Amino acid sequence: VSSTAEKFDFFYLVQQWPGSFCDTRQGCCFPDDTKPAAAFGIHGMWPNYAKCRGRQGLARAMLGDAAGADDAFLSTVGRRGKCWPEYCDDGNELSPWEIRDLVASLDRSWPTLSCKNRRSFQFWSYEWKKHGTCSNLEPHDYFARALALKAKHDLAAILADAGIVPSDTETYTVSSVRDAIAQGTGFVANLECNRDADGEAQLFQVYQCVDRDAKKLIDCPLAMPTKCTDRVKLPVF
Ligand code: 5GP
Ligand code: 5GP
Repeated sequence: VSSTAEKFDFFYLVQQWPGSFCDTRQGCCFPDDTKPAAAFGIHGMWPNYAKCRGRQGLARAMLGDAAGADDAFLSTVGRRGKCWPEYCDDGNELSPWEIRDLVASLDRSWPTLSCKNRRSFQFWSYEWKKHGTCSNLEPHDYFARALALKAKHDLAAILADAGIVPSDTETYTVSSVRDAIAQGTGFVANLECNRDADGEAQLFQVYQCVDRDAKKLIDCPLAMPTKCTDRVKLPVF
């Protein structure tokens, strides 16, 4: 793509559970007021380093994360430095024309749930600028490969096969969720939780790891702070 190829190590393909985005204090909205399917949706596909680099440019997001993390993690984060590249080409705006044949599929698989502007294209172009411009891929390949990887495995179906079904009362062990995804996809993923309005931990995002070509899943090489408790909910959407 460019002469200054980013040397990241792998991607996180991050998928969000809409029930856990919507039932927090922030709430949610739907594009065109159409409720998406009760399925995981893509949040982004993020180039990542396997080892954080230097101290300079310590990502703000990482510090924000660390605020909620334990002391052990905090002491690591201080030494971690920059853990991923972002905004690699600021002038590089996503054009609707470049991804026109993917829009129907993106609408289904990568819908925005934010109330800020309710336009999924805005979400895709934000993710393109922040993460996609560091991927060494053209926009069409970047989005097409994320969609293809997501289409390989239906995470909600994989969880349901393991008896982990959306419920507003039931809780599940994080290890059962982790095992179900490893079994169902063949690869170890990372999990992230958030809190519902009652402060209870719920599965929010699944981070699957992907090779540098964005063509196949790999076992995640890194653990991350999960904000999950031993038992978590999977709220109804
Ligand atoms: P949060 O602080 O909500 O976890 O993350 C805020 C933003 O920082 C994410 O939407 C994403 O753009 C970026 N981010 C957070 N964690 C990671 C990570 O582990 N790898 C990469 N590449 N980006 C991340
Ligand atoms: P990241 O966390 O990737 O840096 O940023 C996510 C940004 O995209 C936030 O500014 C958020 O407001 C916006 N956004 C739009 N739609 C969504 C969505 O469905 N989920 C999430 N997590 N963020 C969204």
